[in-house]
Amino acid sequence: MSATVATTCPYCGVGCGVLAQVAVDGAVSVQGDVAHGSNHGRLCVKGAALGETVDLQGRLLHPKLRAEDGSFRRASWDEALDRVADGFRRIVDQHGPDAVALYVSGQLLTEDYYVANKLAKGYLGTANIDTNSRLCMSSAVAGHKRAFGEDVVPGCYEDLDQAELIVLVGSNTAWCHPVLFQRMVRAQENGARLVVIDPRFTATCESADLHLPVKPGTDVWLFNGLLSFLFQHGVMDVGFVDTHTDGLNATLATAAAEAGDYATVARICGVQLSDLLAFYRLFARHERVVSLFSQGVNQSSSGTDKVNSIINCHLLTGRIGRPGMGPFSITGQPNAMGGREVGGLANMLAAHMELHDPVHRDIVQSFWSSPHMAAQPGLKAVALFDAVLEGRVKALWIMGTNPVVSLPDADRARRALNACELVVCTDVIEHTDTNRHAHVLLPALAWGEKDGTVTSSERRLSRQRPFLPVPGEARADWRIICDVAQRLGFAEGFGFQSPHEIFIEHARLTAFRNHPPGNGDLPASPRQLNLSGLTSLTRQAYDSMRPVQWPVREDGSGTARLFAGGQFAHPDGRARFVATSGRAPANATDREYPLVLNTGRVRDHWHTMTRTGKSPRLAGHTSEPYVDMHPHDALRSGVRAGELASVHSRWGSMVARVRHGGGVLAGTVFVPIHWNDQFASDARVGGLVNPVVDPVSGEPEFKHTPVRVEPF
Ligand code: SF4
Repeated sequence: MSATVATTCPYCGVGCGVLAQVAVDGAVSVQGDVAHGSNHGRLCVKGAALGETVDLQGRLLHPKLRAEDGSFRRASWDEALDRVADGFRRIVDQHGPDAVALYVSGQLLTEDYYVANKLAKGYLGTANIDTNSRLCMSSAVAGHKRAFGEDVVPGCYEDLDQAELIVLVGSNTAWCHPVLFQRMVRAQENGARLVVIDPRFTATCESADLHLPVKPGTDVWLFNGLLSFLFQHGVMDVGFVDTHTDGLNATLATAAAEAGDYATVARICGVQLSDLLAFYRLFARHERVVSLFSQGVNQSSSGTDKVNSIINCHLLTGRIGRPGMGPFSITGQPNAMGGREVGGLANMLAAHMELHDPVHRDIVQSFWSSPHMAAQPGLKAVALFDAVLEGRVKALWIMGTNPVVSLPDADRARRALNACELVVCTDVIEHTDTNRHAHVLLPALAWGEKDGTVTSSERRLSRQRPFLPVPGEARADWRIICDVAQRLGFAEGFGFQSPHEIFIEHARLTAFRNHPPGNGDLPASPRQLNLSGLTSLTRQAYDSMRPVQWPVREDGSGTARLFAGGQFAHPDGRARFVATSGRAPANATDREYPLVLNTGRVRDHWHTMTRTGKSPRLAGHTSEPYVDMHPHDALRSGVRAGELASVHSRWGSMVARVRHGGGVLAGTVFVPIHWNDQFASDARVGGLVNPVVDPVSGEPEFKHTPVRVEPF
């Protein structure tokens, strides 16, 4: 057996610590890391099966270039990198920097993300770099920024142990964040109550004390009603609100106008009045409340307002920043948080600074000594692919993601790639729905080979460490990006020799001109993302770094909770209530498309199954795509359980096997996101999803597309 290596699970945002070992025959065994603060030794089925997923079958091991006839031929790294750099340079010279773009991924490590963002925003001079994290949590980012002044999750997982009431909104945590859910169940065993708000009766609901099966898209009405209820019943922290917040009166007025009486709220939300009031009373009665939300909230054309309607209730009651309470965004991907921290979203700069803020732009530009600084926010994911299709973006570099499967209106994404002059794909897998449209394929390192950091949902930085040899000619993403940057003439900014050097630069940028109040052009409240205690890490200290929650103080200690003193990140230090009005989902059902399509994960698969599909025990649990239907809807649609059916929307079609049940409400169907043309033909649910986005966050409405189901 090899030495044990402490690393981090590459799947969800819980960020569990994993101990990995390699046997002499190459078999990899894993177990949970008892010393890791995120999971204390626990792993879910996906994490426990990691050892079954690290073989090289299907891996992209050499750079490849597409020939005239559409086939791919092996190329040297020099030839492939020259092709990328020459193509990007030519297009920037001819059409300007906004004619090129990067589309990256929550699978990248923070160091990879950092150099990709630096290349685009500081050197190429375009903010056209967005990430697949846009698809899962950008509404939470936008809600945090509106309420707190910065994208900050205030609490930590320990709050679940101390909560009296846990409210889960739009999250099948039992399947999607299982180790966190186990923690909630233990909290229940110790007396906590669990309320689940979800249109579906999921595995999570089986443990709930109360399940509110709200109509899809009605969360804002529900939480506006709660805000009014709390205010009317005197459940308000007057001192906290007066001293630390702004905007209550307008928000209350909007909520009261929206909510009307509670019977109206119950009718709009489609729940029993008695259940609605039971939830409101539970929330009012318990001081220590944690409200967790996930994709069911975020993936909506009113996702940002939903987030703020939840946060408003915590601001009114002052239940934030103290043990056992607070709003809590659960992140989908393993490093969606780390990507946010280094500016992986098209509207953000590194270190949680804002592209639209001239002071922030100046801070980043002077720190980087960047020659061409992006001047305005770039295109968010859906708009970015629209720009590719329309020819405004002519070169696109995709890293570690499969947009032909995962984007809404995914057939349009495919057409966009077909129309694009230069498509570069960095990936660990050779054959994907997206890679077949590439002109250049660049092989990247996978989990077990990569070296760097990720950040979990509770702001905990954790190391991913290598324990497997580099396969073929694969390279780290950060190195590939630096190789291209150097060919573009940016040697000075991209001379990194290790992820450690990149991490140190990132840490220093978080602390650069980020001081306490009263310093010249600086805001009254410093940015919370500050790694000042990690700016001088030696290589050895980086290699042995223990998981730590940011902000990290000068002495290296982390921070479990933020905003305890009521000091927020807006320039005046006060949090904001945000008035939110309920809005119906963008596209309503009609006679032609009478059912609402909801999408999500299954317990044992991850994204497009390139890793989990290799594990017999994971793949065996759910072997094919399915559509969950209420039996009455199946009868009306002329389909039967166990038979194949076609699912159609205005944007596309797919085929799946009908299942009765799955906890769906009558009038709704559920299809998992994982299957794609590598595993079954016509199985990409992304092809059906309406390309509607939240106007603030740009996050797509994956939870509500009108469809019809027919016999196949
Ligand atoms: Fe990995 Fe998430 Fe499971 Fe933890 S809960 S083992 S991070 S998939």
